[in-house]
Amino acid sequence: MPPVRKKVVKPAAVAAQTPKSAPAKPPAQEQQPAQAQPPPPKPQQPLKPLAWGLLPAEWKAACAEFRQPAFRAKQIWKWLQQRRAISWDAMTDIPTALRDKLAERYDITAWTDDAYEQSADDGVRKLLLCCRDGVRIESVIIPARDQSTLCISSQAGCAFGCAFCATGKCGFERNLDPGEIVGQFVAAAAVATRRLTHVVFMGMGEPFANYDNVIKAVRILNDFDGIAIGARRMTLSTCGVVPGIERLATENLQVELSVSLHAPTDELRSKIMPVNKRWPMTELMAACDNYTRTTGRVITFEYTLVDGFNNLPEHADRLIELIKPMKGRVNLIPLSPVEHFDGVAPDMESCEAFARRLQKAAINVTLRRSKGKGVTAACGQLRLSRLAAAASAQIPVSDI
Ligand code: SAH
Ligand code: SF4
Repeated sequence: MPPVRKKVVKPAAVAAQTPKSAPAKPPAQEQQPAQAQPPPPKPQQPLKPLAWGLLPAEWKAACAEFRQPAFRAKQIWKWLQQRRAISWDAMTDIPTALRDKLAERYDITAWTDDAYEQSADDGVRKLLLCCRDGVRIESVIIPARDQSTLCISSQAGCAFGCAFCATGKCGFERNLDPGEIVGQFVAAAAVATRRLTHVVFMGMGEPFANYDNVIKAVRILNDFDGIAIGARRMTLSTCGVVPGIERLATENLQVELSVSLHAPTDELRSKIMPVNKRWPMTELMAACDNYTRTTGRVITFEYTLVDGFNNLPEHADRLIELIKPMKGRVNLIPLSPVEHFDGVAPDMESCEAFARRLQKAAINVTLRRSKGKGVTAACGQLRLSRLAAAASAQIPVSDI
């Protein structure tokens, strides 16, 4: 199932469609009677910031501004991040006057609508969330043994246009703000049957194209007095946005990094990933090498296997040459079929042969076996998130 999308035409977009060269006033003979003119687009109310997107220090500053003692900031934080309050009124130990001020300034409800689909056979749940401006996004809960991974979106749509990706096909709508990123966790936690222990940024969008908001959300999710997901249990996945990799190396954050490689040469990679023209493989691998040396952390390279395209022995050998010097891990994923891309996944035997070749070269490799044909399993995004779960949890995908 393709991701549920809804094109929202905003006044700004309507204005942008007006040609710049259009005369300020139409010629007299073309003027319509006043009553036939369409009403001017209503100016959109700017949305209030979402309460879920504030860090503890920002609550402190807000309380100082409201002339409240500092402990109020802690109370608000606990109500939100620990008790997951969904209304200001629920915060009974906070004075009503302050609650009113908070409600005036911040929204506590991130979604105007939510729904989820349950996969019949493997417990996977896909959440469909509608943002306050009508933009729709997806998150996926993937239960595995005694833990559970949430795959979240960092953007509505994606501008990077990878040939094999359902999200890329739909184009870019907008960045998600930190409150919408954390809000996905809150919504998922409310319907998850097991505790959410891991978070992977492998839903819609490119996290490093929305860097500041994603890192802020990571810090909120990580806060020990709040949701408290360990940094090592969070994975950022990038298609190869080199400045993002460079910045992450300086953050002093223990998050996992996945790099979607999918091909071992510039020639092949550029055919399926336009980002490779902007940051070719020499630059990408240099940034990865620097990241590994600076942080001491291992990068997982995602490699989607497409039959006859990137799964030959010489491709495996080239991949080994690239990954080995920086002791990277490889996560192999047989391609999930998407309508607009006419590649197919190799058969499992061929995938295993590819994996064995890497293993023989002492590369740490995981391979996902296809499993489950439930309702949600038809969704490309869901399949991606399954592999994400394996990457973040550091368990063989075949065991999910
Ligand atoms: N934009 C980021 C994160 C979201 S995509 C990135 O590209 O890394 C999450 C993962 O799903 C990426 O590794 C992506 O390449 C992979 N993916 C996308 N479409 C796929 C498909 N049809 N089959 C298998 N993996 C796919
Ligand atoms: Fe965007 Fe990632 Fe899909 Fe590429 S694979 S189009 S970067 S979401």
